[in-house]
Amino acid sequence: MKRDDTTGWTRRGLLGTAGGVLGAGLWLPRAALAAAGGGKGEVKLPPMKASTEVESPLPEPLAPDQRVGFAIVGLGRLSLEELLPAFAQTEKCRLVALVSGDKDKARTVARQYGVLEKNLYDYKSYDTLADNPEVQVVYIVLPNSMHAEYTVRAAKAGKHVLCEKPMANSVAECQQMIDACRAAKKQLMVAYRLQYEPHHRAAIQLARSKKLGALKLFSADNGQNQAPDAQWRHKKALAGGGALPDVGIYCLSAARYLSGEEPVEVSGSMFSTPGDARFKEVEENFLFTLRFPSGLIAQCTTGYGHHDSRRLRLMGSEAWVDLDPAFSYSGLRMRLSRKSPEDPRASDTTERSLPQKSQFAREMDHFADCVKNDRTPHTPGEEGLQDMRIIEALYRSAAERTPQKLEAPGKLDAFRGPAPAAR
Ligand code: NAD
Repeated sequence: MKRDDTTGWTRRGLLGTAGGVLGAGLWLPRAALAAAGGGKGEVKLPPMKASTEVESPLPEPLAPDQRVGFAIVGLGRLSLEELLPAFAQTEKCRLVALVSGDKDKARTVARQYGVLEKNLYDYKSYDTLADNPEVQVVYIVLPNSMHAEYTVRAAKAGKHVLCEKPMANSVAECQQMIDACRAAKKQLMVAYRLQYEPHHRAAIQLARSKKLGALKLFSADNGQNQAPDAQWRHKKALAGGGALPDVGIYCLSAARYLSGEEPVEVSGSMFSTPGDARFKEVEENFLFTLRFPSGLIAQCTTGYGHHDSRRLRLMGSEAWVDLDPAFSYSGLRMRLSRKSPEDPRASDTTERSLPQKSQFAREMDHFADCVKNDRTPHTPGEEGLQDMRIIEALYRSAAERTPQKLEAPGKLDAFRGPAPAAR
């Protein structure tokens, strides 16, 4: 840092600023710099609003050279629409490399996001990521059937792995991924974005703090209307199934993380509109019930043939919380209904609004933090495996038309790592 003692102003270089947010070459008075944490990476501002009002915390981005380097594998819709733009909102991650089978697309995207040509890979040169120390995390955003192979290869290349949901197409594949990362001493996280999202975290808090009373019923629906084409989501070998592993997994997962419990009995049934070409190989609709040890019952639906519907409600003996939409990328709305604390004659239904930063930025920052501090992620491979164990049981139940028993682990959050920091 350069200092000009005659003016009492100091100049901070790009690396010392908030990841460039304050801008390169910004001049700050010495007193302001001291208030800003003396260049130690922590910026403080005096409050603007009264203490009765909500004020968002300032971002605390790491300098670029301290961020964790990511390679994004697969440049499809999720990567282009959500993940690559989300890097601008991360505080601990840096986009370093891209992996794609389409060289032209990779070059175009690389130009858009400032990725160097030397850091472009295809599926054959993928293993040479091992020689690139700038890449610490490989984020797998490929069709579901490819998650296991690309996780195992990434672990062998000495990289930590963030893998999209569903973790894979079978319990056996999930176990291979866990084993490969364990053998390589690398972290593995499943990209369950909503377990890092403030409304879902608040609902978890309400459920766990007993503010809802005893948990009784959970209901959730997550579905959408699929395009009439032969995309990989309609091929069983690539997708593993239809609506259930793709979008139904959000209902299943929410029932588990809101309660912290694991189901001991599950039953499911599925149905596809006859003659609809989209559903020759995979199911359109799946309805399922999960029974938990405390007595909580979850009733969920998922579909691939109806207008977007993404909602949940958790009903306790004293209150309920609902989210609608619950599973979207943004615009989540949360309501809480209970006896009014002010008027014993009234029932209050209140809406709670929480900060809505990119869910993908939050999830990536959590993993970067785990990599930097050698900590187990909140949603490690074991969490993805448990969802897959239940999905397999649900398909068995639908095929055999009978409920399936599952083992209870005997403690809450049995498959999760430490909770993410609240921000
Ligand atoms: P997509 O079809 O848009 O992208 C898939 C990418 O994989 C494409 O770039 C495609 O070229 C590439 N690919 C490589 N080999 C392929 C093959 N044999 N067949 C088809 N494509 C191949 O899919 P997407 O929507 O980006 O989904 C990718 C993954 O992300 C899936 O696992 C999906 O479940 C997950 N996803 C998660 C969320 C979320 O909210 N967390 C949202 C959407 C998708």
